[in-house]
Amino acid sequence: MATNSLFLLPGDGIGTEIMAEVVKIIDWSNAEGLTDFSTDSGLAGGCAYDAHGEAISEDDMAKALKADAVIFGAVGGPKWDNVPYDKRPEAALLRLRKDLGLFANLRPAICYPALADASALKRELVEGLDILIVRELTGGVYFGEPKEIIDLGDGQKRGIDTQLYDTYEIDRIARVAFDLALTRGKKLHSADKKNVMKSGVLWDEVVRGVAKDYADVSFNHILADNCAMQLVRNPKQFDVIVTDNLFGDILSDVAAMLTGSLGMLPSAALGAPDPVTGKRKAMYEPVHGSAPDIAGQGIANPIAMIASYAMALRYSFGMTELADRVEGAIAGVLADGLRSADIAQENRKTVGTQEMGAAILAKLKA
Ligand code: NAD
Repeated sequence: MATNSLFLLPGDGIGTEIMAEVVKIIDWSNAEGLTDFSTDSGLAGGCAYDAHGEAISEDDMAKALKADAVIFGAVGGPKWDNVPYDKRPEAALLRLRKDLGLFANLRPAICYPALADASALKRELVEGLDILIVRELTGGVYFGEPKEIIDLGDGQKRGIDTQLYDTYEIDRIARVAFDLALTRGKKLHSADKKNVMKSGVLWDEVVRGVAKDYADVSFNHILADNCAMQLVRNPKQFDVIVTDNLFGDILSDVAAMLTGSLGMLPSAALGAPDPVTGKRKAMYEPVHGSAPDIAGQGIANPIAMIASYAMALRYSFGMTELADRVEGAIAGVLADGLRSADIAQENRKTVGTQEMGAAILAKLKA
């Protein structure tokens, strides 16, 4: 009997095309006895709105809550631009993040040697780059109350957002980041603005406290603005960076662009460990959207989606060897010169979604 369950939500646009390539890899690894995944799939985003009048149905939410990991494609598209706000495709993502309690967003920035010339930075600065940004996802200034615009009279208004963090929120994200650092380069930077923000002072105090439990990890504090600068000056100095919701939003996009195309970027969102089983709720998804401009053409890059699945193998199931193999297969096809349209290069072969997926699967089989 299958012991590990995956719930697949391909979504809209290219979501379905790139998810199909992941399904082929799951089918292969199950047949080889390397995994024992049971899979089920549902609707999220515009397709769910068309079917049920909601961005995600209660039935599919229940399945997502029960699964060991959710693998998510992408949602949205012009067809649903005018649906009611609370039913728009992106509402599915927000609901999943909220109900699954996904407070830790993992955004790796890996520069494959074969693509080092596609970066905006010089090859020597990015070749071999492997950074993991751990962003707090459910707190901070995006959610803090009060959050409003008030009328001051005399034509003046005041816009208010509130940055607030409680000890437990900082403690749990710091522990996720330190645990991850232990499995990687054992180096962690914590980025905040403690020089000007009280929430930053508390952030630093709590992270330093957690650091005492991780003697094997080298801990470094960095101001968030300096972190942004260092990411483009000398990105290879970083291993894991932990930061809050706002700074993480910005720093992870900076780090992502060091590596080239949106079609290459995976992500994970993790919740708290279950007190009984120790398993975390988790969702894995490419950073990009549903790319309506190329949907249906069979030319989307499936690498971000497949790399997101590799993250699921690593972080939800501890299948480090298989995750390494999948990531190695991606690096392998790129080294062989295969490129999807978004990363096309002169003198390299441009292939479609299915051909790229098939080449990665062939490398896995080899
Ligand atoms: P997008 O990421 O869908 O596309 C931006 C550009 O990158 C497009 O030119 C697209 O063709 C290209 N691109 C993206 N992924 C690619 C891939 N795998 N292969 C090749 N090219 C790729 O962002 P957008 O155009 O701003 O948004 C389109 C829709 O997606 C909107 O409805 C938006 O709300 C939604 N969206 C969803 C998510 C999500 O589901 N997580 C994230 C971002 C945007």
